[in-house]
Amino acid sequence: MAETADQIYARVQAAGELPAPRVTEWDVFPWVVRDGEIAPKPLAPPAPEEPRSGEDGADCSLCGADLPGVIWRDESWRVKHLAQSGLPLVLVLEPLEHYDLPDLDEHQAAEFGVLTVRLARIVESLPNIARCHAMRIGDGAEHLHMWFLARPKDLPSVRGSFSPDWDDILPPGPEDVWRADLAEVARKLATHGGEALA
Ligand SMILES: [Zn+2]
Repeated sequence: MAETADQIYARVQAAGELPAPRVTEWDVFPWVVRDGEIAPKPLAPPAPEEPRSGEDGADCSLCGADLPGVIWRDESWRVKHLAQSGLPLVLVLEPLEHYDLPDLDEHQAAEFGVLTVRLARIVESLPNIARCHAMRIGDGAEHLHMWFLARPKDLPSVRGSFSPDWDDILPPGPEDVWRADLAEVARKLATHGGEALA
């Protein structure tokens, strides 16, 4: 069962002042401190699009059968976790084969929609989780990967479109709690089909 808001709050209070996350060093991070105030960075001039990782399926790190962190899989899709981070759960839904979102045919799109709803429903049914935010950005890697971020219930700072920032800011919680929630999501997904691997 994910930590309660009180447990997260106590843990973060005990950690003292939190360090700035690595995302502040990314070139796309849009804010700077100017004269002691937060201000937007100057807009960079137009430039050709950088190739995405795994473009046209060449050397794609998301193609392959033996990827780490897979908690559930069927014949076409998998759900995986990345390294444990600040939010209670962050999951990624991916096709096994190399497709980007616009590449999906109607049948694959229907499967993707059903899995998206199922995963959101399962994550939102976990105790102490208020919402499962779902997003596809796709600017880093071409291989479709849809993010599912569970945000804690009753923690007012961690809401809305900044929840991914809090995922980087908050220190990760107890690993056994995280693993138990991963196993619960995998088990519930597998009641509809596929194989639980967590
Ligand atoms: Zn791929």
